[in-house]
Amino acid sequence: MANPYHHALSSVKKWGGSVDDCMAVHNWFDASKRITADFRHRALRHHTEGIFMAETIFGPTLTLSSGRIIPTRCVGEQHVIEDLGFIPSFADWVRCMRPEPWMGRAQRLEKEIDSAFASSTSAETG
Ligand SMILES: [Zn+2]
Repeated sequence: MANPYHHALSSVKKWGGSVDDCMAVHNWFDASKRITADFRHRALRHHTEGIFMAETIFGPTLTLSSGRIIPTRCVGEQHVIEDLGFIPSFADWVRCMRPEPWMGRAQRLEKEIDSAFASSTSAETG
């Protein structure tokens, strides 16, 4: 499994600058290793939505120490392609998840909402 540092070295090779220029972006992509230590951590951010989220967090461009400006999305695409070989959508990840009963479980809220509404109404009038 590639380390964020190795992704950052690859960024330097591709765009120049220094390792620190793109390190925060690569660290962000792999921060999900805190949740799951194996490759499944990638389901959280290694997809099209994750790449756009990185752009939201780090801004549309990164200014390298060389002065060169590069699109943040390109760094995200580089990271995901280096890890997975292509850029999946989140839907691609979801298709690989086995549904479990707890995922679709829902409690009936109508009765609780009705009773809460009734008590607040009576409190207002009382
Ligand atoms: Zn990664």
